[in-house]
Amino acid sequence: MTEMELIEKAKEALKYAYVPYSRFRVGAALEASDGTVFTGCNVENSAYPNTYCAERTALVKAVSEGYRKFTRIAIVAEKAMPYPCGACRQSLLEFAPDLEIIVHWNGKTEKACLRDMLSFGFGANAFPMEENGEAE
Ligand code: ZN
Repeated sequence: MTEMELIEKAKEALKYAYVPYSRFRVGAALEASDGTVFTGCNVENSAYPNTYCAERTALVKAVSEGYRKFTRIAIVAEKAMPYPCGACRQSLLEFAPDLEIIVHWNGKTEKACLRDMLSFGFGANAFPMEENGEAE
């Protein structure tokens, strides 16, 4: 899938954003290592902390279907360049420290590596996976 096709998937997901409070629509398309794409949109709640960002919506969909390795995520928004928030960076770091972040807004695309965006992020390697019975 080309980068623009991944961005288009994120734009499709943006249509489903539930944003009655912020009116800030975001869509994301997360690509797994086998090429499968999971999309997500932001889902707000009247109790604000219960809001889900588009990136974490896509991540939870993917992991809940058995995917744990990812290569790229495209994130689009209508009102500003949608770099992921700190919570999303940390959530994505758990599965893909070298994830390519592609943000798109107003016809412009910018890219970065997740590891560079979250220096010294808290990693799963703090908990040896063998001891948790969670290898792979
Ligand atoms: Zn976020």
